Amino acid sequence: MTVWEIVMIQMKNTDKKIAIIRNRKRQSEQVYQDLKQKLKQNGFILTPKNPDIVISVGGDGMLLSAFHMYEEQLDRVRFVGVHTGHLGFYTDYRDFELDKLVENLKLDTGAQVSYPILNVKITFENGDTRTIRALNEATIKRSDRTMVADVIINRVHFERFRGDGISVSTPTGSTAYNKSLGGAVLHPTIEALQVTEIASLNNRVYRTLGSSVIVPKKDKIELVPTRSDYHTIAVDNQTFSFKNIVRIEYQIDNHKIHFVASPSHTSFWNRVRDSFIGECKE
Ligand code: NAD
Repeated sequence: MTVWEIVMIQMKNTDKKIAIIRNRKRQSEQVYQDLKQKLKQNGFILTPKNPDIVISVGGDGMLLSAFHMYEEQLDRVRFVGVHTGHLGFYTDYRDFELDKLVENLKLDTGAQVSYPILNVKITFENGDTRTIRALNEATIKRSDRTMVADVIINRVHFERFRGDGISVSTPTGSTAYNKSLGGAVLHPTIEALQVTEIASLNNRVYRTLGSSVIVPKKDKIELVPTRSDYHTIAVDNQTFSFKNIVRIEYQIDNHKIHFVASPSHTSFWNRVRDSFIGECKE
């Protein structure tokens, strides 16, 4: 390597601004301190302000928090997840792989892997609206009694739902709560949303489709609750309580989440197998 090339690489690192966020666990704090030192030694700028790369230290939950922290800057930020436990869905590195992470960041050319996210627009009786983005899913439940809501797909009244609630998930979120609800696992290159029922009432009087529905990117899902009392809307790892909801609209967002592409970003099916199946025993 010539001196000129070394200088160029050094300049690239010093140009790159990195934010690290971690959970409160002692192990994460230790990883944070080690990583901070290694990145500084290699000429990276560490700052939570307008970073180019956000590294979350913890688990998938921490990556969800990092996403929400920087959701207004999705077009300029790329994420990296470091897991302090077993490998997660959004985490490419284990806590003992910090040197590998720093080496990969030094070689980083800006390449990224991008996944669709969910846009949720809530309209209230007084005309106010609130828009929330989700990386995994948004679920709605009525706070105390059976939730009743009309499900509308592309302005077609699809069904009147009665039950505990409804989850709308992204492709990467399909392996999270959606999977526990019996929904399908969706490859993240399929730009689609999945609507999954939570304990629907099905008998001679009430009827819903009963299976989850996967809608393509251009389609819009609307939910119209029949009651104006409190509903709980859980978006990834955040929970909101809203009254007087007129309508909730779900669509694939115009922005995507970007991850730093690296050799450690393993294939989606590898992650699914490792997380849910493990090694096959003869
Ligand atoms: P948490 O700490 O209880 O995490 C739940 C688990 O979900 C963790 O093991 C995490 O690794 C895993 N997970 C998160 N995102 C995933 C994904 N995309 N694919 C596969 N697994 C994933 O809760 P948290 O950290 O606050 O995370 C919130 C998420 O937990 C929600 O977005 C929801 O998907 C999930 N959740 C699942 C259930 C369930 O399966 N019954 C219930 C509530 C919430």
